Amino acid sequence: MRIAGETLVELARTIVQVARSLPDQDGPWVSAARCIAWPGGARCVGRLRVQLFDERIEWSCASCEARGVVTGFFLSNLDLSDFAPILEDAVRWGMDEEEYAVLWEATATIPSLRALIARTSPHPDDPSFVWLSAEVREFDELYTLVERLTEMTRRRHRRELLDGLRASLSASMDGF
Ligand SMILES: [Zn+2]
Repeated sequence: MRIAGETLVELARTIVQVARSLPDQDGPWVSAARCIAWPGGARCVGRLRVQLFDERIEWSCASCEARGVVTGFFLSNLDLSDFAPILEDAVRWGMDEEEYAVLWEATATIPSLRALIARTSPHPDDPSFVWLSAEVREFDELYTLVERLTEMTRRRHRRELLDGLRASLSASMDGF
C-alpha cells in the first residue's frame, strides 16, 4: 500500500475533521471523504470509515486495505467538536459529488463550515449523491459563503454550480 508522506498528513487532517465534527455516536461512520491510497498503482476512491474512541480515531477504507489510527488531535485546530450539531434540530440536505468537492475546498479555513461539510456522508440509495445533517443556522452560514463565492467567480460552469447550490439551500431552509 503506497501512501506518500505529504498525502498521509492530509489524510490524517481529513480523518480528524470528520471524526470530530460528528455528534456523539456509537459505531463507525462512513464519510463522503475518499481514500487516497494507491493499491496496485491506481488511486483508490473508496469512502473513509472513521470511529472515534476516547483519544484516538480508528479509520479504514471501505474499498481497499488502507487503515490506521490517528491520535494527538484534541485541542488542535483540527478538532471541530465545538461545531458538532445538536441533532434534534438537524435538517438533512444533499448535493452531488462535484458540489461537495467545491464546498470542501472552499471551507478549508472556516472551521464552523468545515465542520458542516466534514459531516457529509454518502447517500444510501444514490451513489452520485452525498448528504449531511445540520442546523438551519449552519445552512444559513453556508448560504452566505456560497453567495460570496458566486460574487468572486468568473467561470461560467462554477457560477452555475454555485447558483444551483444557493437555490437548493434556500429551498431546504424554506421548509423551516
Ligand atoms: Zn482505499
